[in-house]
Amino acid sequence: MSDNADADREALCRRCGACCHEKVRFGGQVVITDIACEFLDAKTNLCTVYPERFQRQPRCSSADRSAEVNGLPGDCPYVAGRVGYRAPVHLADHPEYERAINTLYPERAKTRRGGSEHA
Ligand code: SF4
Ligand code: SF4
Repeated sequence: MSDNADADREALCRRCGACCHEKVRFGGQVVITDIACEFLDAKTNLCTVYPERFQRQPRCSSADRSAEVNGLPGDCPYVAGRVGYRAPVHLADHPEYERAINTLYPERAKTRRGGSEHA
């Protein structure tokens, strides 16, 4: 792909930051948690290590790869028009996953002890 084509494709991103949060699969359903990648700038939703993101963050994956594993939200431009795409849900909208996710991420459970608010 040319540099221009790369730039055009990258410009599609709305910078919602959803794909830069930990995701957990429960059967066929992927849940996007509120646990952000350590390299995500919370104010801008931009990656602070973008040029070397795949080296710095082993769990980081391309938009294409994320789409293949249902890791991009349904309103992400990179999955627009994908037939049969099963979009992930956000943990904030599905508190029934809280307990299981806190078991997987004990540090999260500690920071949210006494409440169920989301960052
Ligand atoms: S989910 Fe899509 S629109 Fe949101 S930051 Fe990721 S690539 Fe960009
Ligand atoms: S390293 Fe990857 S997952 Fe982490 S903020 Fe950058 S693009 Fe997002």
